[in-house]
Amino acid sequence: MTSPTLARPDLTAADRCDRCGAAAQVRAVLASGGELLFCGHHAREYEGKLKEMAAEIQR
Ligand SMILES: [Zn+2]
Repeated sequence: MTSPTLARPDLTAADRCDRCGAAAQVRAVLASGGELLFCGHHAREYEGKLKEMAAEIQR
């Protein structure tokens, strides 16, 4: 079963980077349905890996 892509709320100041706790600027939605939040710095650092994982990057 596949679930449709859900509309997700915009990132807010309460959303934090999963790596360092800074304000999140990017959300990566994984093919598995999970999601990760990254600050600008870590979004750049992990961008290549996320693309390998077929994650959808939302800014
Ligand atoms: Zn970070």
